[in-house]
Amino acid sequence: MTANLLDLDLEGLAAFCETLGEKRFRATQLFRWIHQKGATDFDQMTDLAKSLREKLRGRAQLAALPILTQNESRDGTIKWLFDVGHGDAVEAVFIPEDDRGTLCISSQAGCAVGCRFCSTGHQGFSRNLDTGEIVAQLWFAEHFLRKHLHRDERIISNVVMMGMGEPLQNYSALVPALKVMLDDHGYGLSRRRVTVSTSGVVPMMDRLGLDCPVALAVSLHAPNDSLRDNLVPLNKKYPLAELLDACNRYLEYAPRDFITFEYCMLDGVNDQPEHAQQLVQLLRRHGGRGLRAPGRPKAADRSPEGEGSMLRCKLNLIPFNPFPASGLVRSPQHRVQAFAKILIDAGIVTTVRKTRGDDIDAACGQLAGDVRDRTRVGDRIAQQRTVMLKLVPADARAAKEI
Ligand code: SAH
Ligand code: SF4
Repeated sequence: MTANLLDLDLEGLAAFCETLGEKRFRATQLFRWIHQKGATDFDQMTDLAKSLREKLRGRAQLAALPILTQNESRDGTIKWLFDVGHGDAVEAVFIPEDDRGTLCISSQAGCAVGCRFCSTGHQGFSRNLDTGEIVAQLWFAEHFLRKHLHRDERIISNVVMMGMGEPLQNYSALVPALKVMLDDHGYGLSRRRVTVSTSGVVPMMDRLGLDCPVALAVSLHAPNDSLRDNLVPLNKKYPLAELLDACNRYLEYAPRDFITFEYCMLDGVNDQPEHAQQLVQLLRRHGGRGLRAPGRPKAADRSPEGEGSMLRCKLNLIPFNPFPASGLVRSPQHRVQAFAKILIDAGIVTTVRKTRGDDIDAACGQLAGDVRDRTRVGDRIAQQRTVMLKLVPADARAAKEI
């Protein structure tokens, strides 16, 4: 059996090199070739001994994901649809901005959580991606972009696990993938610039804090349990009080001193002034309790306001990206603004997310909107192997703001 080297973090690659009778330090060289230089073939790795390259050819591979489609938005956003076999496809989206390049990647084919407003949720769960399939999205996007933009330096500065799937329900594959992203010999991304977004898998939030603390975004979407039970079914298992306690615990480890809460604005469902007021009260009730993980002293600089203050967070209001099966409608702009004002007046840092790439269905929750029907994906996998590319020059990008 050949090992897929994209499956391995540096530690794993070192162990693999040992099985080949090679010194562990060779793993660092190999890792740099794969992730920093984007080598796709062992023959490119010219400073590795020929004998090692030969061994690698027989025992290992770099398994890229076949690309089904590539679309580029008017605003420069690029979306790739990758074939992960058996009629399943996952998406990754590159979002260029003046000061950063963000890649949004998928962790599962489909999702078992089944949120009402999410097209991936409506698709149902197919399977977990393995580490190599998560890493392959970044590996491909980074090196593809470097080549096509004729740039030698790093292009992707931020990764958000906000594509298809619930990353904390695929924990064992997620953590090594995060380690590859963070490793200085890999992509060298700062912990503050790698974000795991979760619908609230409480026990795994605690484990992530211990194993690999990165920035955390929590998909809240409702200020009370009955509404959240309805929108995010996982709430029945981990209700708001437990979720917010877990957020407080995570803050003890987080590389940033706040949690980002995502709140998708749904017309007439969760966007009324009383919802905003409930949200303020909820975050006050659960602020600054500092439920610490065992053995971890509370950092003095982490809780300037002391007990009973607002949970340290930023609120990100997301305009709902509609898809037909949801039966839901995007909140009008004036209501989003009124909602934001209540939060801001209460002292909560609140932003309204720009929608990017909505002309190519690359906006939040639209991923896989057109791959919901798995038969159609099968047809497309059979028919579509051609990749079209027309990168729009940066100055021609028209960023659209809601
Ligand atoms: N499963 C994780 C990460 C993937 S979803 C999670 O739920 O956090 C990434 C973000 O997109 C989440 O905040 C999710 O609530 C949001 N989202 C899903 N569907 C959406 C839609 N139709 N419009 C806007 N945002 C959506
Ligand atoms: Fe899954 Fe996140 Fe979509 Fe909910 S919002 S169904 S958790 S991908």
